[in-house]
Amino acid sequence: MKFWFITGSQFLYGEETLRQVEADSKIIVEGLKLPFTVEYKITAKTEAEIEKVMREANYDDECAGVITFCHTFSPSKMWINGLALLQKPWLHFHTQFNESIPNEEIDMDYMNLHQSAHGDREHGFIGARLRMPRAVVAGYWKDPAVQAKIADWQRAAVGTIFSKSLKIVRFGDNMREVAVTEGDKIEAQLRLGWQVNTWAVGDLVKEMDAVTDAEIDALMKEYAELYDFDEKDTECIRYQAREELGIERILVHEGAKAFSNTFEDLWGMDQLPGLATQHLMYKGYGFGAEGDWKTAGLGAVIKAMYPDGHSSFMEDYTYDYKQELILGAHMLEVDPRIAADRPRIEVHHLGIGKKKDPARIVFEGMEGKAKALSLIDIGGRFRLIAQDITCVKPFQTMPNLPVARTMWRPEPSFLEGLECWIIAGGAHHTVLSYDITDQTVRDFTRIMGIELVTIDSSTTVTGLERDLKLGDVIYGR
Ligand code: MN
Repeated sequence: MKFWFITGSQFLYGEETLRQVEADSKIIVEGLKLPFTVEYKITAKTEAEIEKVMREANYDDECAGVITFCHTFSPSKMWINGLALLQKPWLHFHTQFNESIPNEEIDMDYMNLHQSAHGDREHGFIGARLRMPRAVVAGYWKDPAVQAKIADWQRAAVGTIFSKSLKIVRFGDNMREVAVTEGDKIEAQLRLGWQVNTWAVGDLVKEMDAVTDAEIDALMKEYAELYDFDEKDTECIRYQAREELGIERILVHEGAKAFSNTFEDLWGMDQLPGLATQHLMYKGYGFGAEGDWKTAGLGAVIKAMYPDGHSSFMEDYTYDYKQELILGAHMLEVDPRIAADRPRIEVHHLGIGKKKDPARIVFEGMEGKAKALSLIDIGGRFRLIAQDITCVKPFQTMPNLPVARTMWRPEPSFLEGLECWIIAGGAHHTVLSYDITDQTVRDFTRIMGIELVTIDSSTTVTGLERDLKLGDVIYGR
């Protein structure tokens, strides 16, 4: 994906100034060290030029968003038609070619050239007047902290483009009677772009049966490179490989990047997919258990933002009130991308699902700052809840819990963090991400037009309750 850089100007200052504006813009673009390429497109001087470049941005599949900057003044009425057409994410970069005011050099000509303080205010007004969702980043373009903000926005923008074409395959329906994993799939497609549809488990079993021994051999080599395991478990692990290859065939065939399944519908399958699901997440697929297609979709979007990042499907399981920690795990399905050390494949009994003992990847999660993210359908809108957490090394060995697990403490404090999460309606399923930043979460939800509830060190229970009531006013209940 690429981003287009569009400089605003006008004919008022003459050809020489416009040449300078273009040359300076290209230097700025070359100086941006970002995760995704930025391409200088045009110094726009007329309504027709602006409308044309915005149309082209919409139709170019590689264009993930536009960055605008007004080196000079650029009267904003000529931007209205173009901006009204724009369907890609927009960042208004409020920068200036020179960092300082040169005492001797400055005169009226200099000011007419270097007047983003003036031109970008006109540009900002039209963004506000059009009520357009946009990110605004202010600062000198060489400043790494300023560039980091643009990088955060780029991740969000790439996530939204990915989201708009995301397909999610559901094997089996929602876990019976569970509420939080339900949701409006039509609203999800309208708002987030997600196509959420179901595939028969019987058809999955047919695909599994068609997997060859040679394909399983190749995947077993991949497992051996990444994970330790005992020879005695080989047969059981090979069955998980068969499940993984069957699931992936359907995902590839459907062009899907996320899936859900449920232990209540494993018809014709010998094991709950544990290792199979974990390794599919490792490869970049989003996953949600018990029919949770919303967490599956969110997981896939975050993986698209950070292709080699550290994130996983997660579930809040049990508390230690004394140590003030949440134990997070799942029956089996946690992504080895968050493992602190080299993971191990093990085979153990699993009571739920009434199937054979499944192979699963076992490890402890990484230490460090992270976020727990939950996407819920609160009725009439989607709410993304993002809570800051600190992951720690589990303080117990828990020898009878052979699953991937991690422990964390939520912000603003353990108990207030729990209260805030419960008040906001956050699910027991989350995406745990060590990568995603406050700004990327904010940019993503702004572009998508969904509600954002953040819980961080500055959150109070009373403030949160007020914000939720405001949300009901803004979005309707
Ligand atoms: Mn679950």
